[in-house]
Amino acid sequence: MDSVLTQGFMGISSHPMNSSQNFLGLLGLCEVGNHPDPEVRLALLGRMLAAIRFRDDSIFFHSRRVTIIAVGISQRLGWTTEEIHHLELAALLHDFGKVGLPDHILQKPGRLNADERELIRTAHDVSEILLQASRFSETTLQIFRDSPSMAGDCGGSLGRHLGARILAVADAYDSLTHDQAHRRALTREQALEHLQHVEGAKFDRNVVCALERWLKSEDAILLEQAADVEQDLREYQPIDPVAMEQANSLCHLFSHLILLESLYDGYYLFDADHRIVVWSRGAEGMFGKKRADVLGKPWSPEIANYSAKGLNGSVVSMAIDRLRPFMVSAQIKTGQGDLEVDVQAIPFWDQESRFRGACEIIHRKNASRRGTERYQELQMAATRDPLTGLANRKALESHLVKVFEEAQAPGAVPFSAIFLDIDHFKSINDGYSHQIGDQVLVDVAHLVEDELYSGELVSRYGGEEFVVICPETTLADAYQRAERLRRAIISSEPAGLKVTASFGVAQLEGSESADSVLQRADAAMFDAKRGGRNRTCQRTHQDDTQKTSSKVAKPDVSNEFELQDRFFSTVASNLIFHKLSGFVDSNRAKVWDVKADSFQMSVGESTLFCGWGSAPAKQPVHIFVQIGGVDRSRRTNRVEISIVIKPLGRKPELKAFHDRASRIRDEIRAYCVADSPVAT
Ligand code: GH3
Ligand code: MG
Ligand code: MG
Repeated sequence: MDSVLTQGFMGISSHPMNSSQNFLGLLGLCEVGNHPDPEVRLALLGRMLAAIRFRDDSIFFHSRRVTIIAVGISQRLGWTTEEIHHLELAALLHDFGKVGLPDHILQKPGRLNADERELIRTAHDVSEILLQASRFSETTLQIFRDSPSMAGDCGGSLGRHLGARILAVADAYDSLTHDQAHRRALTREQALEHLQHVEGAKFDRNVVCALERWLKSEDAILLEQAADVEQDLREYQPIDPVAMEQANSLCHLFSHLILLESLYDGYYLFDADHRIVVWSRGAEGMFGKKRADVLGKPWSPEIANYSAKGLNGSVVSMAIDRLRPFMVSAQIKTGQGDLEVDVQAIPFWDQESRFRGACEIIHRKNASRRGTERYQELQMAATRDPLTGLANRKALESHLVKVFEEAQAPGAVPFSAIFLDIDHFKSINDGYSHQIGDQVLVDVAHLVEDELYSGELVSRYGGEEFVVICPETTLADAYQRAERLRRAIISSEPAGLKVTASFGVAQLEGSESADSVLQRADAAMFDAKRGGRNRTCQRTHQDDTQKTSSKVAKPDVSNEFELQDRFFSTVASNLIFHKLSGFVDSNRAKVWDVKADSFQMSVGESTLFCGWGSAPAKQPVHIFVQIGGVDRSRRTNRVEISIVIKPLGRKPELKAFHDRASRIRDEIRAYCVADSPVAT
C-alpha cells in the first residue's frame, strides 16, 4: 500500500519548485484517488489532514470539531450513513485551502486587502482541484464548494446544498465557542442565541434547531472528549517525520498550483492513460468546457481548441515527441474575436522512464496579470472611501441595485438597511482635534466591519454617517444587529473616547424602491436622535405614513404634557427663520425639519436612562413652530406664530415640564420680537 502512496505522490525530497516533481505528485494523487482499495484512499485522506495539521494545529483541531458537530446535526436531521459520510469528508477538509496560505494572511488582525482576498479564492480553487483530482465524491465536492469558506462573500447561506448549510452552522458554532483574534469565546448558550437571533437570517433555522437538540443530547459529550484528545495530540503525538515530509510536499504542490493559477490563465493535466485529471477554472473559460464535463474523459487534440500556424497536431504531442517542454503562439476563437495566447506543454516521465502524463499551460499575450491588478486597484480607489477604506456612496448605490434585484425573486427574503450616525461628533472634533475625529471614524468603521458578516456591505455615507446593507435580513434581525453594533461601539471606545451612535433600521417592503428603504432608515435614525441618541429606532412603511401626517397635523390639545401658544411677531415673515436661528444657536438646538412655513427642533438631552434630568437647562423638549398668515387687522402687518412644546424621553413631572416649556416659549417670543401672547 505504501508503495502506491509514495510512488510519485508528493515528490519526496525534491526541490519545492521542481515543476515535474510537483506535477508527478499531482498525478500520484489522482492515481491514489482512483485506487480500488478503500484503505489506500483512506491513507490519502490521512495525508491531507496531516498537511492541515502541519500547516497549523488549531485549523486541524477546528476541522475535527466542526466534523463532530456537523455529523451530530445531520444525524438529528435523519441523514443516511452514506450521506453523512460525504458530509464528514467535506467537513474534515473544509479549511484545506488554508494549507496554501501564509501566516500573514491567516492571522492578519485587520481587514484583508483585495490581493489577499484574491489569494484566498485562488487557494480554495486549488484545494478544490486537489480534491477533485483525488476523486472525492461529487456530493462531497458540492458541499465543499458551497461551504462558507469556499463561498467567501457570496452572501447568505440559504439556497446552498443542505450539507453546506449544516457545515456553515457547525463552523460558526465552533468559531463562536472558541477565542478569536477579535472576540472572546462565547458560552454554548450565548453561541446558540447568536446563531438563532443575532445572525438568524444567515443560517438555516432547521439546522440551528437540530444543533440545539444535538447539544442537549448525550452525544454532545463527544465535543468535550475532543478537547481532551486535542490536549493529548498536542502533548504526546507530534506529526511523525515521515508524515511531516509528506505533508510538506503536499504543501509544496499546493504552493506550486497557486503560483500556476496566479501567473497563467488556464491549465490542464492528463495522465499516462491520456485521461484528463485536472482542468482549471481558467481552462473552463478559455475552452468553453466545464470541469465536470471533461474530467476523466480521454484527452484528444480538440479538447483545447486553439489553432497555431504551421503546427502539426497539438503542442502537447510535439512536446511528447521531442521528450521536452514545447511552446508556441496560438489563437483561441471566442465570441469577441481571436484571443492571442502562448501555449506551453510539459510532458512527465518517472525515474523508470515511464510516461506519466502531461500538462498544458495557457497564457494570454496582451493581458498581463499585473495589468489586471492595477485595474482592480483603480477600481477599488473609485469605490472606496479613502479615510476608512469602506465602500463609498457610489459603491453603496451599485450594491443596492444588486441586492434589490435579488430581493425581487419569488419567495426571497427582503433586505434591510441600517443607518448609523455618530452622536455629537462635532464636539469630538471641537473638543479634541480633527485628527482624533478622523481616528474615531476609522475605528468605528473597522469595528462595524468586524462585527458584521460576509455578504453585508458597510459603507461611509458621508461625514460621520454609515450605512449597512444586510441582504436576506428581516427588520427584526437588522434591529438586533444594529443594537449589537451600538453596544460594541460603546464598549470599544474608539480612539480611546466614550463614543455613542444613533441607529435607524428599515426593511424593504412591498413594491417600494431601494431608495425609499434608505430614506426610511435615515428617518428612523433621526427618530433615535430625537429620542435622546445612543439608541436604535425602526420604521415600517406604515409608521412612515403615520409620522409624516403627524408632522403636519396640529398636536393633540388635550395632552397635559404639551404647551401650546400663539403670538404675533412684528418681524416680516421671511425674517422669522433668521431670528429663530439665534435661538437655535444659543440653545444648541437640533433642527430636524424645516418647511416653508414650519420648523421643528429639539433642545436639551435625555439622561443616560432616557430620563428628563434635574438640570432645567438640559431637560429635553421637542418644539414645533408654525409660522402662520399675516394679520392685517391692525395697521402693521403682523405674523402669527404658533408653538407646541412637548417633553422628550420619559415623562417628567408636570410642573417641571411646564416651567421649562414656558421659559422656552418666552425665549422664542423674545427672539421673534413678538408681543404678548394672544388669548386662545
Ligand atoms: P448629532 O448627534 O446630532 O449627530 O450631532 P453631530 O455633532 O454628530 O452632527 P453634525 O451633523 O452637527 O456634525 C457632524 C460633523 O462631522 C461636522 C463635520 O465637521 C464633521 N465631519 C464630517 N466629515 C468629517 C471627517 O472626515 N473627519 C472629521 N474629523 N470630521 C468630519
Ligand atoms: Mg450626521
Ligand atoms: Mg452625528
